[in-house]
Amino acid sequence: MSCQRPMLGVIADDFTGATDIASMLVNHGMRTIQTIGIPDQNDPLIAQADAVVVALKSRTIPAAQAIGQSLAALKALQDLGCQQFFFKYCSTFDSTAEGNIGPVAEALAAALGQAVTIAAPSLPVNGRTVYNGHLFVGHALLSDSGMQNHPLTPMTDANLVRWLQAQSRGRVGLVDLAAVRAGDQTIRACFDKARADDTSLLIIDAISDADLLAIGHACRDHVLVTGGSGVAMGLPDNFRTLSVLAGAGAAALPTIKGKSVVLAGSGSLMTNKQVATWNAASRPSYRINVLDLASGKPVIDEAINFFDAHAEQAVLIYATCPAEELKRIQATLGVHKAGEMVEHALGDIARRLLERGVTHFVVAGGETSGAVVQALDVKGLLIGRPIAPGVPATVSLGAKPIALALKSGNFGDADFFTKALNAFEENYDA
Ligand code: ADP
Repeated sequence: MSCQRPMLGVIADDFTGATDIASMLVNHGMRTIQTIGIPDQNDPLIAQADAVVVALKSRTIPAAQAIGQSLAALKALQDLGCQQFFFKYCSTFDSTAEGNIGPVAEALAAALGQAVTIAAPSLPVNGRTVYNGHLFVGHALLSDSGMQNHPLTPMTDANLVRWLQAQSRGRVGLVDLAAVRAGDQTIRACFDKARADDTSLLIIDAISDADLLAIGHACRDHVLVTGGSGVAMGLPDNFRTLSVLAGAGAAALPTIKGKSVVLAGSGSLMTNKQVATWNAASRPSYRINVLDLASGKPVIDEAINFFDAHAEQAVLIYATCPAEELKRIQATLGVHKAGEMVEHALGDIARRLLERGVTHFVVAGGETSGAVVQALDVKGLLIGRPIAPGVPATVSLGAKPIALALKSGNFGDADFFTKALNAFEENYDA
C-alpha cells in the first residue's frame, strides 16, 4: 500500500452507521469524509481525505439491489485510489436469512479477489461482544436482547456462524477468542487454515478493544474487512506505518459563519428532554402543530415568520411531542403519512432557512436528518470531533459549506442542542 489519498474506502449499509465508523476513524487519526451515495470523483476535499465512507441505505432492501449498490460504491472508491475496503454493518448484525451481510460481503470479496474475509461486529464500548461466535448485547444473548423483536431484521439466533451461514453461499467458520488472544501469528494461521479448508467468511471473537486492535493488525494485508465500527479502530495503524495520516488534525473543520437553527423531528424520550431543556431556558422555539399542517394551514410559513422575528438568536423548530400525543396524531393521520408529512415539512423549512442565510443546522432524528440532508442537497460531510458519543460535528462538502450536527433521537444529553451550537461557534481550525 502506498500513501496516495484516500487509502481506506468504507461502504456502510445505513446513514447513521456510516457516521459512526467515520467518527471512529477520525478519533483514530484518519481525516474522513462521509458521502451520501456515490462520491464525487472531482471533489478536492475527497482527494485530501485519508478515508472515504459511502453511506448507502442497503440494510433491508432486496439482496440483489444491496449487492448492486455496494459494488457501484466499491468501483467509485477504487477509482478514487483506495487500497483497502471495509464493509460496515451494525454491531447487532442486523440482517435476515436472505441477507444482506453475507451476500454483500461475498460479492465484495469476489470483486476484490479476497479468499478469506473476516466478519467482526464487536463494539465493546457499546456492550456488543462476540464470544465463541455468539453475539452478546450487554449481558444478554443477541436473541434475548430485544433485537429478536426488531420489525425488519429480527435477530432470533445469537450464533453468528449459523446466522451468517444461512445467508451465504461459501462456508462460514470461526476464529475463537483463544486464537485472537494468542496474537498475530495465530490469527493469521487461522486465516491460512480457513483458506485451505475452503472457508471464505470468518466470524471472529472479540470482547475488548485490545482484541479488536489485534484483529485489525492481523488484517493489514486484507483488501476487504467487514464488521461493525469497532474493528475499524485497528486499521488506521496499518496505514500509519506506511504513510503519514492526518493524526491530531484529522478532526479539523473550517469555521462557518451564519445563522443557526435546531430542527427536531424525533419523538424519542431524549429529544423530548432536549426540547424541554431548551424551552425551560426561555430560548425561542416554534412548535409545529401536525394536525394543523395536515389540514392545510400555513404552518411552514408561520415557522419561517417566527424564525425571521427571532433570527438574531438560534431558534428551535420542532414537531417532537410526548409519546401519548404522538400516538393520538398517528391514530388520526396514520403513522406513515404523519411521519412523511413532518419530514417533508422540516425539509422544506430547512431549505427556506438556507436561503435566509442559515448555515448552522442541528437536527434531531435519524429519518429527519435524512430528509433535511436531502432537502439541503448535501452530497457529503467532512467529519469533525464528537459533540456527543456517536454524533460528530460535520461540515458539508461543496462550494457553500454548512455546519451540521445530525443525531438519532436518543443520542446526546439534555443540553445537546446548546452543546452542538457552541461547537459550531468554536474555531474548528484551532
Ligand atoms: P428517531 O431517530 O428518534 O427514530 P426519526 O426522525 O428517525 O427519529 O423518526 C421520527 C419520525 O416521527 C419521523 O418520521 C417524524 O417525521 C415523525 N414525527 C415527528 N414528530 C411527529 C409528530 N408530532 N406527529 C407525527 N409524526 C411525527
